[in-house]
Amino acid sequence: MNNTFLVTGGIMFGVVLVLLLVITLLAGHSSKKRRTKREHLSSSLQGEKLKSDIILSSIEDGVILIDTQGIIQLFNPGAEHITGWTAKEAVGLDYRLVIKLVDDKGVEYTEQHSPFVKALGQKTVVRDNDATLVSRSNKRVALNISISPLFDNQKNVTGAVGIFRDVSQERSEERQRAEFISTASHEMRTPVAAIEGYLALATNDKVCKIDSKARGYLEKAHASTQHLGQLFQDLLTSAKAEDGRLSSHPQVVELGQFLEQLTDDLRFAAQKKGLGMEFVMGSSGQTIDASASNAKLVKPFYYVYADPDRIREVITNLFDNAVKYTDSGTVSIGLTGNDDVVQFYIRDTGAGIPPEDISHLFQKFYRVDNSATRTVGGTGLGLFISRKIIELYDGRIWVESEVGKGSTFFVNLPRLDAQKAQTMQAQATAQASPLASATPIVKP
Ligand code: ADP
Repeated sequence: MNNTFLVTGGIMFGVVLVLLLVITLLAGHSSKKRRTKREHLSSSLQGEKLKSDIILSSIEDGVILIDTQGIIQLFNPGAEHITGWTAKEAVGLDYRLVIKLVDDKGVEYTEQHSPFVKALGQKTVVRDNDATLVSRSNKRVALNISISPLFDNQKNVTGAVGIFRDVSQERSEERQRAEFISTASHEMRTPVAAIEGYLALATNDKVCKIDSKARGYLEKAHASTQHLGQLFQDLLTSAKAEDGRLSSHPQVVELGQFLEQLTDDLRFAAQKKGLGMEFVMGSSGQTIDASASNAKLVKPFYYVYADPDRIREVITNLFDNAVKYTDSGTVSIGLTGNDDVVQFYIRDTGAGIPPEDISHLFQKFYRVDNSATRTVGGTGLGLFISRKIIELYDGRIWVESEVGKGSTFFVNLPRLDAQKAQTMQAQATAQASPLASATPIVKP
């Protein structure tokens, strides 16, 4: 976490520095009016430029300046060191030849994923903390990158400045930490499960005779042990999610039926807290009370290709939060979609989330610091794990919330068209039968 702050801080400093340099250079062109003033200005600007040059050549971060055509205009020694290209070679070349980026699986960034293209197109600062650079000698270098577009007086984009830092050491340490957490929580889960089992036996009337005071203590111990077990499980899952070892057995899932069933399973937990619970199908907000006998409506099929256990994990997690952070009202689980996307959401009428916390919510261990979270237990891992799972299926998860009114957590997943989904289901069934044909299952 600290490393990320340091790196981001360093990159921000670099951005400010380069912007200062560019402003200084631009300012240099407009100072030609009075001679005496000019001489004074020119010497002070030279002094400023010299300072900027000194800083640019002494910082460790790579700094690259490109024009709108993507041609490199400036390449500092930090960039030379990280990429293996010299400034002499790089300046004048297309940046794509020099800054070759790949993702964590080694797949080269497409044009649309390039942070340079995004910064120039979207006219905003674009950061990428997961990129890997392929250096001139084919070495892989983990990078944090920040690209800022540059503007002229008419607010036209004139180029972009990129600041990047080698974070190979930080990423490798992060991996080691994740590995340690994963091994430790795996090892600790076993004895905790044994303690939980014995406590359950001790409080079982049919197995043990104990007085009511002892029962009270043991029940508390049992609840805490269950919490500890959940914590180890969450730690293990988040460590696996981080290094890409999260197991997933995707199959065709029809989310309409899946969610209706799950809503019924979860209903009890909401009712126990005195909350209403509903399943809402379709963008019209049409409510289906699953317990009503006339709930037969013509519904579209919302197919996705994902591991149903993982999707259940996400929904249960969002639902548990909705119940945890809501004192009165209703929790709704909804489903809608268009031709390309299936969207489900979990809406509550609870405490809501302050706007300044929203962008951090899906980070590891992040909990909003307020009375609700102080009184309600939690690890701050649930939303992080949920995001990792949804990203596994090329989906997106986000929240919209208003303090005092409630929150809605949305999930978008790519939609599988019905015909393809049914063909895949039929193939999977045929494969599972003993007389399975040798036809491979088509993947979306
Ligand atoms: P936790 O175990 O703390 O619930 P999560 O990762 O699931 O961890 O959630 C992170 C934080 O997001 C919570 O601590 C809480 O502050 C906030 N949060 C999550 N869901 C809700 C919700 N439905 N309403 C209000 N706050 C929420």
